[in-house]
Amino acid sequence: MKAPNAEQRRLLDLAGLDADLAKARHQRKNLPEDAELGTLATRLAQIRDDRAAAQAAADTLADEYARVETELTGTTDHLARDREQIESGIVSHKALTELQHEVTGLARRAEALETELLEVMEQQEATAAEAQRTEAALIEATDRELELVAERDAAAAAVERRIEDLTATREATAGEIGDDLLGVYQRLRDQGRVGAGLLRQRRCGACRMEIDPHTLSGIAAAAADDVVRCEECGAVMVRTEESGLPK
Ligand SMILES: [Zn+2]
Repeated sequence: MKAPNAEQRRLLDLAGLDADLAKARHQRKNLPEDAELGTLATRLAQIRDDRAAAQAAADTLADEYARVETELTGTTDHLARDREQIESGIVSHKALTELQHEVTGLARRAEALETELLEVMEQQEATAAEAQRTEAALIEATDRELELVAERDAAAAAVERRIEDLTATREATAGEIGDDLLGVYQRLRDQGRVGAGLLRQRRCGACRMEIDPHTLSGIAAAAADDVVRCEECGAVMVRTEESGLPK
C-alpha cells in the first residue's frame, strides 16, 4: 500500500488527537465532583433517616406525655374531691377511714405520675436536640450539594467544550488523509488498537516492539510513500527525520 509520506505523518497528529479525546471522555465520565456527589447522596439519605427517626421519637413522646398528663389530672381531681369530703365533716367514721386510705394511695400515684412526666420531658429535650442536629446537618449537606452541582456542571461544560474542539480538529485532520490510509488506521482504532506510531530508535511507536535489524534495513530501503506496518501490532509505522533509519 502506498500513501504520501505527508499523509502518513498526519496519522501521528490524528493518533495524538484520539489519545487526547479518549482522555477527555474518560475525564467527563469520572469527574471528582460526581464522585463527591455520590458520597453526599448517601450522607443525605442517612441524615433524612435520622431526622425521620427523631420526628417519630418526638411523636411517641408527645403521646406518652398526653397519656401521663391526663391520668395525673384525673388523679389530682379525684384527690381534691376526696379531701373536700374529708374536710366537710359529714362523712361517717368508716367512710372517713376509707377516704383517708384512698387519699394516701392517690397521693402516691400522683407523685409517681409527676416523676414520670418529668422523665418524659427530659427525653423530649434530648429528642429536640437530636432533631435540631439533624435539621442543621440537612441544611449544611443540602447547601453543599447545590455548590457541588454548580461545580460539577462547570467542570462538565469545560470538558465537553474540550471534546468538541478536539473532535472538530480531528475531523479536519482526518480530512487531510486519503481514504485508504485512514481506513487502515480507523479499523485498528475500532479494534481498540493505536493505529499509528512514529518509528524511532528501532521501535514501533504504537506498541514499543523492537524491530530486528533485518526488518529495519528493509524498512530503510522502502520508498517514502510505502506504508510500513508493524508486524506486532499492525500500526502504521510513520517514518520521519526522527526515525534514525540506517542510510
Ligand atoms: Zn507496533
